[in-house]
Amino acid sequence: MRSSFDDTGQEDRPVLRFIGRNLSLLAFLALSTGVMLAAYFYFSPASGVAEVVAAGNAAGALSAPFAKPVPPKPILQRLAQSPGPIRIGIISGHKGNDSGAVCEDGLTEAEVVENIAVRVVSALQARGISADLLSEFDPRLEGYVATGLVSIHADSCDNINDLATGFKIAGSGLTDSSQLSICVEDAYRQATQLSYHANTITPHMTDYHAFRQLAAGVPGIILEVGFLNRDRQLLEQQPDLLAGAITEGIGCYLDQIRGGVTIAQSAAPPAAAPPEGDGQ
Ligand SMILES: [Zn+2]
Repeated sequence: MRSSFDDTGQEDRPVLRFIGRNLSLLAFLALSTGVMLAAYFYFSPASGVAEVVAAGNAAGALSAPFAKPVPPKPILQRLAQSPGPIRIGIISGHKGNDSGAVCEDGLTEAEVVENIAVRVVSALQARGISADLLSEFDPRLEGYVATGLVSIHADSCDNINDLATGFKIAGSGLTDSSQLSICVEDAYRQATQLSYHANTITPHMTDYHAFRQLAAGVPGIILEVGFLNRDRQLLEQQPDLLAGAITEGIGCYLDQIRGGVTIAQSAAPPAAAPPEGDGQ
């Protein structure tokens, strides 16, 4: 009987038997559930608090903004992606068209600048750089594709006043030509010790016909190498010096295009070189 009771008891109440066997485990599960629920309700914010936190964050109270305004990076030159073969165009001012400025004794701007332009072209070619000597209205200028264009001119032979000395450079308004402009200006100033004559740059220079003829994206500058009157001795008798300076400036520009370095980095070392003492 007893065994049968036990048997039936065990058969009728398997759940109780299971609980009896695993009492300590079940007690642990119940306790831990209780602790977790308590922890959940203890740390949960009251309703509405989450919205308050979000609103405060939106106003920037809880964290620093992670989207700082960053100024756009200036475009220094547009050939970095696909430089192509290096080619430089040199316009010999007025060549093939007119004589340009003329001095009383017949010296012309066209002959003075051609003397310089020819030397620049051969110096570039001697460095292995493709260079074209172009006349003022050269047919090749229409859609001319190059790494850069430099047009060489000189200023008036009239004895205007004491200020009529120095050189000046105007860059194309259609393409960013600042790198070419800065390189040539630095090299020319250092070599010639001429002052930069910024205040006589005319729209005639900035709206130069060749700038409009060049292929899109080709940087171009027009360089007035000096005044035929007050700077005559330098212009007429030292074409090698002037051409060397212009070639140097173009070399600086090409280095920057090929090296992709900024103007400040590459211009700094040469600027600190010997001419500093002479300039004082
Ligand atoms: Zn001219």
